[in-house]
Amino acid sequence: MPVYKAPVNDTLFVLNDVLGLERYGNLPGFADATLDTIEAILGEAAKVAEEALFPLNLSGDQEGCTRRDDGTVTVPKGFKQAYDQYCQGGWIGLAVPEEFGGQGLPYTLHAAVGEYMSSANMSLMMYPGLTQGAIAAILVHGSDEQKSTYLPKMVDGSWSGTMNLTEPHCGTDLGLLRTRAAPQDDGSYKLSGQKIFISAGEHTMTDNIVHLVLARIEGAPEGTKGISLFIVPKMLVNEDGSLGARNAVTCGAIEEKMGIHGNATCVMNYDEATGYLIGAENKGLSAMFVMMNEARLGVGLQGLSVSEIAYQNAVTYARDRIQGRSLSGVKAPDKAADPIIVHPDIRRTLMTIRAFNEAGRAFMLWTALKSDIAHRSEDAAERQNADDLLGLATPILKGVLTDKGFDHAVMAQQVYGGHGYIEEWGMSQYVRDARIAMIYEGANGIQALDLVGRKLALNGGRAVMAMFKEIGDFCQENRTDEAMEPYTKTLKKGLNDLQASTMWFMQNAMAKPDNAGAGSTDYMHLFGVVTLGYMWAKMAKAAQERLAAGDVREDYLKAKLVTARFFMERIMPETAMRKSRIEAGADTMMELPAEAF
Ligand SMILES: Cc1cc2nc3c(=O)[nH]c(=O)nc-3n(C[C@H](O)[C@H](O)[C@H](O)COP(=O)(O)OP(=O)(O)OC[C@H]3O[C@@H](n4cnc5c(N)ncnc54)[C@H](O)[C@@H]3O)c2cc1C
Repeated sequence: MPVYKAPVNDTLFVLNDVLGLERYGNLPGFADATLDTIEAILGEAAKVAEEALFPLNLSGDQEGCTRRDDGTVTVPKGFKQAYDQYCQGGWIGLAVPEEFGGQGLPYTLHAAVGEYMSSANMSLMMYPGLTQGAIAAILVHGSDEQKSTYLPKMVDGSWSGTMNLTEPHCGTDLGLLRTRAAPQDDGSYKLSGQKIFISAGEHTMTDNIVHLVLARIEGAPEGTKGISLFIVPKMLVNEDGSLGARNAVTCGAIEEKMGIHGNATCVMNYDEATGYLIGAENKGLSAMFVMMNEARLGVGLQGLSVSEIAYQNAVTYARDRIQGRSLSGVKAPDKAADPIIVHPDIRRTLMTIRAFNEAGRAFMLWTALKSDIAHRSEDAAERQNADDLLGLATPILKGVLTDKGFDHAVMAQQVYGGHGYIEEWGMSQYVRDARIAMIYEGANGIQALDLVGRKLALNGGRAVMAMFKEIGDFCQENRTDEAMEPYTKTLKKGLNDLQASTMWFMQNAMAKPDNAGAGSTDYMHLFGVVTLGYMWAKMAKAAQERLAAGDVREDYLKAKLVTARFFMERIMPETAMRKSRIEAGADTMMELPAEAF
């Protein structure tokens, strides 16, 4: 049977020793997040993840969701109780302002907790996960009345949220969307159209579902300039906040899909459903982007979460399974064979995943901290810098953590040999679940294009320069520290490859845009490897300092340094290959006519 233990100690190391969270006590919400409080919150989150969510992961995958003839949708057994427990613990509103029923704690803490919850049960966590995204959009773009009507109920989990963009003919290219919104005399709208693939679109775990829907107001311009965002509640809400009549939005079907079986992916039909404009007319895409950016971080987190649980299980299996003898001499003479963890190729697999997970966790928390600073700092320059880095990091985090999350689920499955292909071990589920994170919230090819086509040039390249400076400064500050050389030397080389590739785009992509498209995925991964390398260098520095101070976590800290060296030796060299592919340009990729494929 699968196992899971939340990596609380590793999270604490990143938050306290690497990011120095206590330095941010001046930010709203951070003063309450003392070291003791953080430890207590993470401990409690670990309990919910391990004891309430995780036991339902495999059964939820096997049972899935069902649409009944009356249009209602059932979720797997136990999901409702676990969802209620999650809500009662106040987890949805951990980082939401207190005036709307939240706890106002740092988003960084919310991200830390989110990793455990998603590792334990990705499908179940998508129900509150989408609610959290919808809360973010209403917080930024909702009117005071919308905030007071919807937020407290969404924060306490009695109402959930969804995100409705996709239509049958329109996925990435939202300019094609056809759902219509007809203005009514009372200021509301009637929405008509069909949305597909809507996660958590229908279920009976909550009293109401607040759909955030993109639609085109009658007479609005074609393309993305004519799209508005609407709140369409499943149950209409009376003036006193009580629930009224059923709105004309229904689930037409649920999708049979490869993974995340415990989450209901719905076709939603809007038949003159009552909706309320949120934000300005025709500015729906930018309003929805608040939700999408939040969701992209959440999806990046899913990649890390699945990679972590797949790793933990592969390690357990590799310790137990005996096959063959160690190349360097028998290790378990009392047994008929050695455990497979002695074999270098199994070690290669486990170390690769481990090195990614620990750096991925640090990258996630580093990015979440930038989000906190961007939204809470009183210093305008600090806010701008953090916002630039958050915007830059978002597509990298989403694209790289989910591409690698899937790769690592497959690698962990390989440790099981044939048993990894058999459902009862759980590895097949991790592979299937991890796959979707590469697709939704903007397929990863689109994340790469966002990075190269938009984020690089934004504000004259301010964000990318800030990132290069941050990494360059770190290498410079540590240039005379001999113990840091194995990390900074390789990191500097990776940074040089990244800067050279950035320059190559500037010189070769303006005149020939296909060059940017052809190199974008390599560039996203190049940026990802350098950023993860930066995280490793920071972690190595912190580990060395703690060891020198006589920290009691000696074994843990020494293991950090070994894993850091592994990353630098085995994963950082990828930057040279990525650079070389980018510089090959688009020619061979584009030369064959479409008929030749
Ligand atoms: C299980 C599941 C849950 C989902 N949940 C939701 C949800 O809750 N709400 C919601 O609104 N949607 C949801 N989606 C939809 C999801 O976000 C889309 O599937 C995704 O954005 C891609 O759109 P598409 O499937 O139409 O692919 P397409 O847009 O048709 O893209 C096909 C391929 O072409 C590539 N491509 C497209 N345009 C370009 C371009 N200009 N340049 C280069 N490459 C390009 C893409 O990267 C992709 O690989 C969900 C999907 C699934 C499967």
